[in-house]
Amino acid sequence: MALIHCPECGKEVSDQAAVCIHCGYPLNRAQEERFALVLLSLNQDYAGIVHTVQLELLIDDHNAAKDLVDHLPALLRRDMTYEEAVELARRFQPNAVVKLVRDRGETDEGLLSAQETPLPVDPEEEKHGLGFGGTVAAVIVGIFAAVLLLSIL
Ligand SMILES: [Zn+2]
Repeated sequence: MALIHCPECGKEVSDQAAVCIHCGYPLNRAQEERFALVLLSLNQDYAGIVHTVQLELLIDDHNAAKDLVDHLPALLRRDMTYEEAVELARRFQPNAVVKLVRDRGETDEGLLSAQETPLPVDPEEEKHGLGFGGTVAAVIVGIFAAVLLLSIL
């Protein structure tokens, strides 16, 4: 059994399941659905994003890649499976903001304004997030206890 991401809610489900256990999405439909990825904005690392665009979109011309990044939103690629689209999104994150959309054969322009579908929630990241929050809370409690102790003495 392998785990795949549900294209509807982004959570992990078994590839053997007929429907998503989280949201009820019929997973057999996921095989037929196509997705596209849109580059919305850059957080940082302009040169790095241009390089990623060249590498992932197989654009030889450096200036053509720059031109794409300079005119956002830009359609990166269309007609992908959900997992392919997620994989491509990972290459651009976290240095850029990307939008995953369903590709139902709209025009390229139509895809730019199409409604976003969620990217997978990484369970590992969630755990790390809680771990970090817990550490911060422990430090705050520790400092508070120390101050309390000193004020008593
Ligand atoms: Zn789901």
